[in-house]
Amino acid sequence: MEFRLPSEHRMIRDTVREFCDEEIEPIATEIESEGRYPVEIFEALADLDVMGVPIDDAYGGLGGDTLMYSLVTEELGRVSGSIGLSYAAHVSLASKPIEYFGTATQKERWLTPLATGEHLGAWALTEPSSGSDASSMDTHAEPTDDGWILNGTKQFITNASVAGSVIVKAVTDADAGYDGISTFIVDSEADDGFSVTTEWHKMGLNASPTCEIQLDDVFVPDDRLLGEVGDGWDQTKKTLDGGRISIASLSVGIAQGAFDAARSYAVEREQFGQPISRFDAVRDMLVAMDRKIERARLLTHKAAWLADEGKDVTRASSLAKLDASETAREVAEDAVQVLGGYGYTEDFAPQRFFRDAKLMEIGEGTSEIQRLIIGRELGL
Ligand SMILES: Cc1cc2nc3c(=O)[nH]c(=O)nc-3n(C[C@H](O)[C@H](O)[C@H](O)COP(=O)(O)OP(=O)(O)OC[C@H]3O[C@@H](n4cnc5c(N)ncnc54)[C@H](O)[C@@H]3O)c2cc1C
Repeated sequence: MEFRLPSEHRMIRDTVREFCDEEIEPIATEIESEGRYPVEIFEALADLDVMGVPIDDAYGGLGGDTLMYSLVTEELGRVSGSIGLSYAAHVSLASKPIEYFGTATQKERWLTPLATGEHLGAWALTEPSSGSDASSMDTHAEPTDDGWILNGTKQFITNASVAGSVIVKAVTDADAGYDGISTFIVDSEADDGFSVTTEWHKMGLNASPTCEIQLDDVFVPDDRLLGEVGDGWDQTKKTLDGGRISIASLSVGIAQGAFDAARSYAVEREQFGQPISRFDAVRDMLVAMDRKIERARLLTHKAAWLADEGKDVTRASSLAKLDASETAREVAEDAVQVLGGYGYTEDFAPQRFFRDAKLMEIGEGTSEIQRLIIGRELGL
């Protein structure tokens, strides 16, 4: 069920949906158990011209809006949380900030290869000892005559091991608090001193690389400072406002994938001489799942629409992310239940969606932090 989407949006969504069903769904379990980042899928998504959906076509993007990007992200999440997560980090975290804050020359050099899918991008805020309290980071940048020297460790960075560029947050003035943080573009393929030190094995999303990275005296020239010195924290807030819409979209997709698996199982599986969907308990569970997904999708589309209207989306994106991530976890858990013993095996998708869904309540601000943000927006 959906409101009247513009025809261009439906066309892109349907193209990606078909690709997901034909190319991603058949390998989704395999890449997960192998922990393999599927480079061929991202090359194919680049061929479909969707690696930069909400990026200006002057820089190789599709020139679409946030709603279109949300629809694409949902479709990817419906078949593979891993691919959806790497995609969302690439677009919202690694590409969008360059479009928002970069100069024309920076966009030409760094945004175009991301938007065309020539390579993936990553965004590095979190550190081993600063997560929710992200501004208390230790990574710092010291000025030189013609640039900056970066030192520090970043933790849980999506795509870092497969990225061509990494946006790095670093302290440039330790006494200036929120105004002492700046943003740099690191060339992860060429810059000396940049290394990936760990690739984590996780409870889910193992086809999406999650990395610890080390910056040891990494020199970045002045033209790789994004925006002005001290803009880093304000940029982070704007980036995450958009990023949360993508995590909400991904969550809706995960929930939909889990629901679809549960629904089709429930109408086939017979016990006591009838399909289990005829038992009130199972039917009510499926109805509750469908209701939650519709609610989460509406909140997500509303946040996307507000973003496209140029409105402040802090409350709307946090609300969508909070609701959709909890929906994804609850729906995926119930999908496991609907499949009974088979739901507990790795041969069936719901357990994978259940494991993937949990991250949605953690990444880009935990649910507890979303409640803090929403409370603040409500003046509480
Ligand atoms: C798979 C994965 C991918 C990720 N990708 C990226 C990425 O690409 N780039 C990046 O920079 N980061 C990334 N992250 C990091 C992610 O954003 C952080 O893990 C998240 O923000 C939480 O930080 P933390 O893990 O340090 O937990 P902590 O901040 O230590 O939180 C631990 C617990 O304390 C709670 N808590 C903390 N502060 C408060 C408070 N004030 N009030 C109430 N409760 C509180 C939290 O909600 C949580 O339950 C990723 C993480 C994972 C697991």
